[in-house]
Amino acid sequence: MGIGPGSADYLTPAARAAILASEVVLGYRTYLHLIEPLLAGKQVISSSMMQEVERVQTALQLAEQGAEVALVSGGDPGIYAMAGLVYEIAAERDSPADIAIVAGVAALNSCAERLGAPLMHDFAAISLSDLLTPWAVIERRLEAAAVADFVIVLYNPKSKKRAHHLPRALEIIGSHRNPETPVGMVTAATRDGERTLIAPLREFDPALVDMQTTVIVGNSHTFVWRGKMITPRGYRTKYRLD
Ligand code: SAH
Repeated sequence: MGIGPGSADYLTPAARAAILASEVVLGYRTYLHLIEPLLAGKQVISSSMMQEVERVQTALQLAEQGAEVALVSGGDPGIYAMAGLVYEIAAERDSPADIAIVAGVAALNSCAERLGAPLMHDFAAISLSDLLTPWAVIERRLEAAAVADFVIVLYNPKSKKRAHHLPRALEIIGSHRNPETPVGMVTAATRDGERTLIAPLREFDPALVDMQTTVIVGNSHTFVWRGKMITPRGYRTKYRLD
């Protein structure tokens, strides 16, 4: 009996095993579609984006009744996904279910891979979704991360209702960063239709971004070489690199 959020993009062996070992699989429709070959013979409960609380409650109820349950998230279940909500709801009802979280490859990992080596130094991930976080808090975090020269990973850069969030975020970051700072974006990493683009901050076009995009803004040392975005760790200050 357990709830093992797996990951739908790069499936790790542990996530695959958790899904295969389960009798019931729950998740957002898009993610379940990505793992369809693993679902044969299982009870599948797919739901739309906005039913997260209900989905977790159902998963816990089934697990409490003795079923082996997998609750699937995209990327890593512990990053802007379901792991926290599973524990919050389980704690609320003091659930006896045996819960295991299975780590996945987050978008920041797969997107960094595509772009080169942008996350080699301190970075901050900030979600631009204000569904659960007030926009004023998001602006304050953008400002703080920009001032502190963190590489900044922007999750949830756009939705139908939030076209203006990314331009505003780039404006805040741009007020503390050189206009030549490299900005990378990856859309649909590891999925059909994957797209990658690197441009200087002053030229970066937010219109190219959609809901499946992660944007990475470099720090003051990030550079581009042969189409790759690289943030130095600092070796150059101690060693000769030629
Ligand atoms: N748990 C996920 C994040 C879910 S939040 C993780 O670990 O990465 C949803 C946001 O994640 C999207 O708006 C987008 O910013 C990012 N994302 C998810 N899948 C992606 C993909 N395949 N390529 C690029 N970004 C992705």
